[in-house]
Amino acid sequence: LVYAASETVWHRGSCRLCGVGCRVELGVKNGTPVALRGVPESRTNFGYVCMKGMHFWKVMNHADRLTTPLYRASKKDKFKPISWDEALDIAADKFATAVKEHGNDSVAYYGSGQALTEETYFFQKMFRGGLQTNNVEGNPRLCMASAVGGYLTSFGADEPIGGYADIEKADCIFIIGSNMAEAHPVVFRRVMRRKLDNPDVTVINADPRISLTSRIADIHLQFHPGTDLALLNAMAHVIVKEKLYDEAFLKDYVAIKKGKAVSIDFAEYEQFLEKYTPEYAAKIMGGKVTPDQIREVARRFATSKGTLSFWTMGLNQRKQGVWANNLVHNLHILTGQLLKEGADSLSLTGQPNACGGVREGGGLCHILPGHRLVAKEKLRNQVEEAWGIPKGRIPPKPGYHTMAMFTAVNEKKIKAMWVHCTSPVQSLPNCNLYNEGMAKDDCFMVCTDIFPTLTTELAANLILPTAFHFEKTGVYGCTERRSQITRKAIDPPKGAKPEVWIIREWGRKLAEKLNDPVIAQCIKPFEGLEEGYELPKAIWDEYSQKLTKGRDNDLRGASYEVLEQMYDGVQWPAPTEAFALTGGTVKKFVRGMDPMADSHGKDDKPYQFYGPAHPDQKLWLWQRPQADPEEIPDAEYPFYLSTGRIIDHWHTMSMTGRVKELLRANPYSYIEVNPADAKRMGIKPGDMVEITSRRGTNIMPAKVYEGPIEGMVFAYWHDQHPDRMINKVTKDAYDPGSKEPEFKICACRIKRVSGP
Ligand code: SF4
Repeated sequence: LVYAASETVWHRGSCRLCGVGCRVELGVKNGTPVALRGVPESRTNFGYVCMKGMHFWKVMNHADRLTTPLYRASKKDKFKPISWDEALDIAADKFATAVKEHGNDSVAYYGSGQALTEETYFFQKMFRGGLQTNNVEGNPRLCMASAVGGYLTSFGADEPIGGYADIEKADCIFIIGSNMAEAHPVVFRRVMRRKLDNPDVTVINADPRISLTSRIADIHLQFHPGTDLALLNAMAHVIVKEKLYDEAFLKDYVAIKKGKAVSIDFAEYEQFLEKYTPEYAAKIMGGKVTPDQIREVARRFATSKGTLSFWTMGLNQRKQGVWANNLVHNLHILTGQLLKEGADSLSLTGQPNACGGVREGGGLCHILPGHRLVAKEKLRNQVEEAWGIPKGRIPPKPGYHTMAMFTAVNEKKIKAMWVHCTSPVQSLPNCNLYNEGMAKDDCFMVCTDIFPTLTTELAANLILPTAFHFEKTGVYGCTERRSQITRKAIDPPKGAKPEVWIIREWGRKLAEKLNDPVIAQCIKPFEGLEEGYELPKAIWDEYSQKLTKGRDNDLRGASYEVLEQMYDGVQWPAPTEAFALTGGTVKKFVRGMDPMADSHGKDDKPYQFYGPAHPDQKLWLWQRPQADPEEIPDAEYPFYLSTGRIIDHWHTMSMTGRVKELLRANPYSYIEVNPADAKRMGIKPGDMVEITSRRGTNIMPAKVYEGPIEGMVFAYWHDQHPDRMINKVTKDAYDPGSKEPEFKICACRIKRVSGP
């Protein structure tokens, strides 16, 4: 790309960081990024960006960018630069050898919610259709798998019904298990705006910690970690006792479920709720929440003109993550705070493309593109047909979920693994345990990334440097079913390549080494295409045209050309170009319709109105009891530990840790200790504190403040320093349904080790 000297050209795209999906413009001068700003016309961010987003362009130019493939035969050796041809040959050879000697399930792909949809889709195609394994996973398992489970079991279909547009119509905003102010700052700004413009709007925050989010709340319910299922059931108890439920809505739309979705009557549900009196729940929750507060929030939730709930990791990263999601949905279903403007049960997504690429594009071990379940033969056959590969090529058994995948690495069952755009060495819970396996030479690891990370240092044999955001073209799908395109604006550094090129070239060598024409068939539609635009476009076309047809995430109308016209993207379903050009579907289920009406699947009708996706066309209310987390404090480990995010940094800090302004704002992690606990333990601000669980120990400076409830400590998880990497301490228990780990709660002890 050639620019006139001194001219700043603005290129439109999406932010590469959190799941809000802000529309941004990258300013490029003389071929180099010089600034980033929000797009004022965007209905997502109205021109705003947060401080992470604003500084993002500085990551692109950083001197640490990887620019040549690096290889070491053993993880004990030093890396040596090699050519792309050699690198791809080695990668193909290692995967082919693993398959030949140890079978198809000895290889695995571990991806990211930060990858473009085209990348996730193409990788999973190569692993499933090419290498015949469903060992396809990604880091979204760690942050939103429980939300998927919750949506599927309550509504019968994944992803939210509404979106951010409900904020401006909501009269009650219920935020639970989310520090939105820091983790999703620009969408939180809309919540604040709504509250400032309308003082009657109620904001309720339920969270064990006082955060920037709770500070604007009218009511903050601060409770002991892991007791929120009691709170949510107690709110339902009040709603039922005081007959605040929406009887007509229940009659029309709702079925009541227990255990494995067995229908029961409402009386049995009332019976289940009987014990969850506000007094009972308040006692479980730890005494800071009063029964009257629970009554008050239940009433406000039920009686507002529109109640909108938000949550994220606080509910998802739990052993009862799916249950917690179900109980939030229950409140909306009971009260009819759903399927209307200003009312929705909206799970915030952590990463920019966890929804679009991974949930929708087939990036988890049990799902194929288009929200298809691997286990269903008919759905597998649809994918095989779209790819032009023989029936039965995709294996029927789901692959390893994330924790099982890294357990399999420890057990030497995975012989070759591709880690893309993520750093499991830092981001897995109880990471010491899994890092042991990753550090061994039994598993050959390829890492595709832009910077060295703890994972490339410890576990990679081969590092392939990739193009970064705005150096390639592709689509992101954010929290609210919205797909947005980002076009290539600048060339990547010499030596770095777009992933779609890497996958294709690797695939060709793999086909040769395994002498397998089906692998060649997987890349055939993409042969000969230029990688900056033509190749990702062809991949997007295959996915959107062939694999979303007839699915709830129908994106056939959202071609690259349409997405480029729509500065704000398109919300699916959007089956036709004409409909996509209206912006797509704002609410995917709408009340007052005949749920059996056949507008679904017809090209000539927008999908504006169709019903819940359970076979009975009902929303399901679930009975989910309060249950303890896997580990609760005891005499030896008397504190709860919870972890989270801060506004200045992103994930493992491989990007934001390289921006000096963000580093200056928050250079290292600390342990937040409640003043009462600090006094008892003799800890003063800035003291070095040892934090120990049954799995590991960190030493971090203390921040003494009233944020965490007494008996709980808190740390953010971004810090890479070996003494402060908090996932050495967290627990790797996981939800049996969603398989999402319980990062949010474990037991620990703390001890002052030295002064500041
Ligand atoms: Fe980017 Fe999220 Fe900040 Fe928006 S809120 S600018 S998407 S990091």
